[in-house]
Amino acid sequence: MTAVPVLLFHGVHDGGDGWSVTPAQFSEYVRLVAASGRTPVTVAALSERLRSGASVEGLVAVSFDDGDASQLPAAVELAESGIPSTVYVTVDFLGNAGFLDDEGLRDLAAVPGIEIGSHSVRHVHLDVLSRVALREQVRQSRAALEDRIGAEVRGIAYPHGSHDRRVLAAVSGAGYESGAAVRNALSHDREHPLSISRLTVTRATPVVEVEAFLGGEGRLGETRPRLRTRGFRVYRKARHRLGR
Ligand SMILES: [Zn+2]
Repeated sequence: MTAVPVLLFHGVHDGGDGWSVTPAQFSEYVRLVAASGRTPVTVAALSERLRSGASVEGLVAVSFDDGDASQLPAAVELAESGIPSTVYVTVDFLGNAGFLDDEGLRDLAAVPGIEIGSHSVRHVHLDVLSRVALREQVRQSRAALEDRIGAEVRGIAYPHGSHDRRVLAAVSGAGYESGAAVRNALSHDREHPLSISRLTVTRATPVVEVEAFLGGEGRLGETRPRLRTRGFRVYRKARHRLGR
């Protein structure tokens, strides 16, 4: 199988939470991606090749989740090194403190090579929602983002990585062509384009781990979307009802 590293970042801050990386760490990762010898592509471009059966040899992708305001300068920094990126935006976070506002989103959409994707409306576990609520999360987020950026949105990243067959059917029915999971594994040529594996990079991630990942070393994502055990989903559904 041909492995494809897809990196996942959240905020890029000096004083951010545990999910973020520092600007210095981020610059080092930009350098590593550029030096990897791989061809950087958006998740949309990777998914297109997965769907058509074209070769994914030598590709790499960089993505961001949530729509943190720091992702605009981070995407610009990547673009300056010739690296396109995919930013998955949570619609309800737009305009919140620390997140992109509508103007920031439009600026982001204008960064060369950028892909804007959906990260749902409310950042909820999609696999525990009713059919109607699931449909709303995937369709409304897409429409809201397309309205704001004036361009098509064809990718989604599942909040918390949570997805199952029902979520894939809803996403496919809503017209999405790519779906980004987490899994902390390498994507590969036999992966489902609606369930692309990524590696979360935080301030605690050892650089050597990212270097190995960019080298195509590590666990591969599964050839079919992993389905949570029923027991785990029932547990999370109960938590969801309790408003946790
Ligand atoms: Zn998220």
